[in-house]
Amino acid sequence: MEGDVEGTPQTAKVNVLGMSREELRTFMTTLGERPFRGDQIYRWLYARGAISFGSMTDIARASRELLSRTAVIAGVVPVSSIPSPADGTIKFLFGLADGLRIESVLIPPSAQFDPDEDRADAPTRRERLTLCVSTQVGCPLACAFCATGTMGFVRNLTAGEIIGQVLHARHATGRRITNIVFMGMGEPLLNYERVMNAADIMTDGMDIGARHMTLSTAGWCDGILRMAAEQRRVKLAVSLHSASDEVRTRLMPVTRRFPLAQLLDAVRRYYAATRVRVTYEVVFFDDVNDRPEDIRKLIRFVRAVPSKVNVIPFHPIGFMHPEGLGATLRPSPRTDAIVEQLRAANITVMVRSSAGEDIAAACGQLAVAAPRRRQGGAIPRHRSTLPHETTNHETPPLWATRRREGNTGETSC
Ligand code: SAH
Repeated sequence: MEGDVEGTPQTAKVNVLGMSREELRTFMTTLGERPFRGDQIYRWLYARGAISFGSMTDIARASRELLSRTAVIAGVVPVSSIPSPADGTIKFLFGLADGLRIESVLIPPSAQFDPDEDRADAPTRRERLTLCVSTQVGCPLACAFCATGTMGFVRNLTAGEIIGQVLHARHATGRRITNIVFMGMGEPLLNYERVMNAADIMTDGMDIGARHMTLSTAGWCDGILRMAAEQRRVKLAVSLHSASDEVRTRLMPVTRRFPLAQLLDAVRRYYAATRVRVTYEVVFFDDVNDRPEDIRKLIRFVRAVPSKVNVIPFHPIGFMHPEGLGATLRPSPRTDAIVEQLRAANITVMVRSSAGEDIAAACGQLAVAAPRRRQGGAIPRHRSTLPHETTNHETPPLWATRRREGNTGETSC
């Protein structure tokens, strides 16, 4: 998917990328066309990744011309892709129509976050290809340890921009994306409708089942309750990090708005409505959330609802120059011992690998420079100056040969 190949979107034109099947049927009728034309376009956009109306060959020429005059296919524009020499992770940098930038991370089969391991219909590890997508430009929640949090909030992504990331990753690799994790830049539950619309299209139009998608939230309870009410099958991951309100508030200011008691209540309701086991994500920081009383509280909290715990290594975010607590955080030297302690308490614990860390694509490391005023149409420069940055996706990923690497560690972004 090459994004806006129809040209610079004009305000008068309608962007069809991100429209549901029903919206496309309605749109076509407003153009005086028959509704089934909407189904055809839906297939062209999402199943086949069409980037222009001209290529939709089973649609009459006059209709295609009408579409070109009234609509655009505007997703995301690939700016660069950075493959990790260490593990085959690829970080994509995309430009948006308004000059902003976002990142997604393609996680190789050999080292990926594995939300489906226990499912009979899960793609085998060799076939599995996971994309970590962004849902917002920046994030308003300002978690102390997160690179995106230091950017502040810029805007929500549209459904088309969320789907555009997946279409591009599929196009760049020539392979089906089997799993989606909404764990890139932003808080997905603060962009609920667009994220869920995108998820529905991915399921219905791109053959990615809801149960092969994981949405990670900092604990925005209104969104968790809505997922419960709508019985969403997308898996829920909650970034917990601490089961003490006082400690968690320091790490994650969102705790002031939604204290832990409220979070637990929302998670309970989600589980009751969906019967989908919740994943808690935890990073242990030296002398902040790794003390014996922290672990005791953590064990009590995660036991309340059927769940598993993903322990994520702390990935440095010094390149974003965090201030306050964020500048002082260090990984806990007690992490391994705590993992053993949790397992001894019969808690299912996965320890994620740090795939992509060498290219700042690991969990919590996604952030792009704040947009500068555009000069002569130039798109603001990405803050990363990594040596292996490429200007397109011509570098073959390490895993493109479909070789099995033998590494069964997890990763995510
Ligand atoms: N806003 C969502 C999703 C984005 S962050 C959320 O908070 O869940 C994706 C995951 O990365 C979260 O579990 C988050 O807590 C974790 N994370 C953020 N910064 C990190 C860092 N520096 N090192 C390791 N994990 C980090």
